[in-house]
Amino acid sequence: MTNAAALLRDVFGFDAFRPGQEEIVEAVAHGENVLAIMPTGGGKSLCFQLPALLRPGVTVVISPLIALMRDQVRGLIETGVAAGALTSANTPEENDAVFDALHSGELKLLYLAPERLASGGTQRMLARAGVSLIAVDEAHCVSQWGHDFRPDYLRIGELRRALDVPLAAFTATADQETRDEIVTRLFDGHAPRSFLRGFDRPNIHLAFQPKDSPRNQILSFAAARRGQSGIVYCGTRARTEVLSQALRDEGHPTAFYHGGMEAEPRRAVEERFATEDGLIVCATVAFGMGVDKPDIRWVAHSDLPKSIEAYYQEIGRAGRDGAPAETLTLYGADDIRLRRAQIDEGLAPPERRAADHGRLNALLGLAEAQGCRRVALLAYFGETAQPCGHCDLCDTPPETFDGTEAVRKALSAALRTEERFGTGHLIDILRGKATDKVKQWRHDALPTFGVGKDLSQGQWQAVFRQMMGLDLMRPDAERHGALVMTDRARPILRGEETIHLRRDTLARATDRPAVKQ
Ligand code: ADP
Ligand code: ZN
Repeated sequence: MTNAAALLRDVFGFDAFRPGQEEIVEAVAHGENVLAIMPTGGGKSLCFQLPALLRPGVTVVISPLIALMRDQVRGLIETGVAAGALTSANTPEENDAVFDALHSGELKLLYLAPERLASGGTQRMLARAGVSLIAVDEAHCVSQWGHDFRPDYLRIGELRRALDVPLAAFTATADQETRDEIVTRLFDGHAPRSFLRGFDRPNIHLAFQPKDSPRNQILSFAAARRGQSGIVYCGTRARTEVLSQALRDEGHPTAFYHGGMEAEPRRAVEERFATEDGLIVCATVAFGMGVDKPDIRWVAHSDLPKSIEAYYQEIGRAGRDGAPAETLTLYGADDIRLRRAQIDEGLAPPERRAADHGRLNALLGLAEAQGCRRVALLAYFGETAQPCGHCDLCDTPPETFDGTEAVRKALSAALRTEERFGTGHLIDILRGKATDKVKQWRHDALPTFGVGKDLSQGQWQAVFRQMMGLDLMRPDAERHGALVMTDRARPILRGEETIHLRRDTLARATDRPAVKQ
């Protein structure tokens, strides 16, 4: 794992870079002058915060928004990064603490309000402080023709010349005039390395399937692409070995790769993958950082990734050469349970866990999307798009139906059993199956017992999966994965809202027993 990837995980708590971040982080960390244009919410701050930790000395961050600076500083300090801000909102004590940290050489990030640049004292202080990078947030504020013009931003170029260090400028405003003005005023007209690639990877076909029989689903996906290089991402180390064997039995050249292997066999797989045509590697997420093969023709997930960022990064390894590439992501109720449990059992503080659930929900929303997947994916990263015509849902738009009644039955089964049970038991109640467990709890006496005989076991599983995808119910780790209702479900239960479900995932559901991980 690279330094940047380790910091991303250990300091910032993210499992994958968002679109564009990795390249920008690398360039900034290497001391290139950079202009990065990213949509709002795309994750700009990481692109200077992470490099700041990789560079010696202190990084000066100039931002026009005092509240935002203070938020970022608070967040950084919470994760153990030495950061401080000098703004007009500081108390004298806060100022002293920042000066002390700066003089002792501890500080890694110093946020500075632009008006501070007007003082000669600030410039002299920075000249002595060992600054190795200037990061400029909202760089369009340097544009005299824009709405957000900040005259003090005009002093940034002077500061860069005085300190003679690299500068990284960030903005969400992409129009050509603004860009030109940024280059003129911040970089003295010397073109910086620019990043303004959109996030869309139009050559990659997107597809999801509910996990009915993962082995067969992966085998048939690979069979249709015989001879092409591909990666199968698996949720466990054991599964990489099992699937690799299953594919080999079908005559594919395969290898497996995971973090439990010694460095040497891992390196050998990387080498084979880079040089051999048509190899399939079954791997955990350990495989990827540093895999730089342009002609990977497909990526499949036998298990649901951790988050929407991880999904984007992993499918993004396909088709780097721009030629058509295909992806398939399998997901099932067990995956959702497993991912939730991993988040809940992790050591992350509560806010971070809540955010992780949110990123998983976003991925589930994508999995059970009712319209174009690319539109949904790009919307998450702040880009708008038209239906792409190059995803499974554009190929075959899903039919939906009013699923309010089924959802209400499922919710009431959970409520009447005090939200203490998981999917399997709730489905037994709904379908009127008097199992030992049902009898033991006297759940056969509930009014909900047997009200859901119209749907099969597999169809009920699909309903529950969609309900989790729509965040109507969540498995509660403290209750061993028992399903609890979320606030979003209340209006449905009260009859104030209806809810649509996808018909196909119900129609496709069979009565095979739930797939074990
Ligand atoms: P902006 O580009 O608007 O400045 P921010 O830097 O504030 O965006 O980031 C927006 C949100 O994205 C924040 O909540 C941040 O925690 C989150 N974020 C940034 N990078 C990642 C990542 N690699 N994985 C997951 N979430 C991320
Ligand atoms: Zn589409």
